[in-house]
Amino acid sequence: MPNQPESDGPIIDLRSDTVTQPTDAMREAMMSAPLGDDIFSDDPTVNALQDRVADLFGMEAALFVPSGTMANQIAIRSHTEPGDEIICHHLSHIYLYEAGAPAAISGCSMRLLDGDRGMFTSDDVRAALRPVDQHFPISRLCVIENTQNRGGGSVWSESQIADVSRTARELGLKMHLDGARIMNACVASGTNVKDYAKHFDSATICFSKGLGAPVGSAVAGDMTFIDRARRFRKMFGGAMRQSGILAAAANHALDHHVDRLKVDHENAATLARRLSENPRIKVDPCETNIVYFDLEENAGTAPEMEAKLLRNNVRMLALGPQRLRAVTHLHITRDDIERAAAIILESIPK
Ligand SMILES: *Cc1c(COP(=O)(O)O)cnc(C)c1O
Repeated sequence: MPNQPESDGPIIDLRSDTVTQPTDAMREAMMSAPLGDDIFSDDPTVNALQDRVADLFGMEAALFVPSGTMANQIAIRSHTEPGDEIICHHLSHIYLYEAGAPAAISGCSMRLLDGDRGMFTSDDVRAALRPVDQHFPISRLCVIENTQNRGGGSVWSESQIADVSRTARELGLKMHLDGARIMNACVASGTNVKDYAKHFDSATICFSKGLGAPVGSAVAGDMTFIDRARRFRKMFGGAMRQSGILAAAANHALDHHVDRLKVDHENAATLARRLSENPRIKVDPCETNIVYFDLEENAGTAPEMEAKLLRNNVRMLALGPQRLRAVTHLHITRDDIERAAAIILESIPK
């Protein structure tokens, strides 16, 4: 069995920060949450979470939804009409990992930008804008992802975002923040969530990533936007009933799992540092909890390394012939990181 762990010990799972299990305290919070029927706006725990998220972003209202993908797609559908075009980076989650939903659900085309580590500038947005002419799609929405997942968990600074947003709004575009890991961005940059969010018309947050909840995301915006978003949430099948049991996990995560993200960032930085001790491993810059690295051609392939790690009870993802990814989260300790690094380093002679 080459692709199974060789012993029954605990697995160090670095495939993603979505693999976390709810902690005992989180489970207790879920079990004791007061519940209602959220489609009647009756669930006090959902209402409390939505008010809290709106407040966190400094926006008028927020909506609890089942996933980050649905949060983004509700936002896209709410801002656009079929035939509109979305401007975003070619590494963005909405383009790469949401099953073509902007085209399928909202009838939108996407204008893809280049730029280092998933980021772009106001000049890029200006150059991508379509002239007003019956031949062209209507440029409607610009989407920024912070942190940028495929860009290496990279962090936009507030001033980079302010620059893009100022221009985008001058050009008549709406601004959406894919904030699946916005708390990672805030912890890494020391920027307040509101200072990021004020540059956007809508924003999302995922509770099921590094924040450690089992399920759930939210989307925030002004009242008119949220009224429209609520309608599309229903249409997409994402309106839920006693969803307070899930919102309770999200509330618990916001109470207890934000400050500790810095531990994940330290662990990721340690892994990046260890791996770069070997010149045959090329490690991308690591800013938050995601580490991408490439093995040199003569240092074996990424799938071989993934299999070797798994035999040693460590899971990472091979994302290309030579490329691997490791993501830290609340179940990963400093010792786990040292162990994972040792397995990789001992199998690649310098
Ligand atoms: C994970 C993620 C999402 C949403 O993912 P779901 O699995 O649908 O919750 C959106 N954007 C980014 C950047 C992500 O990393």
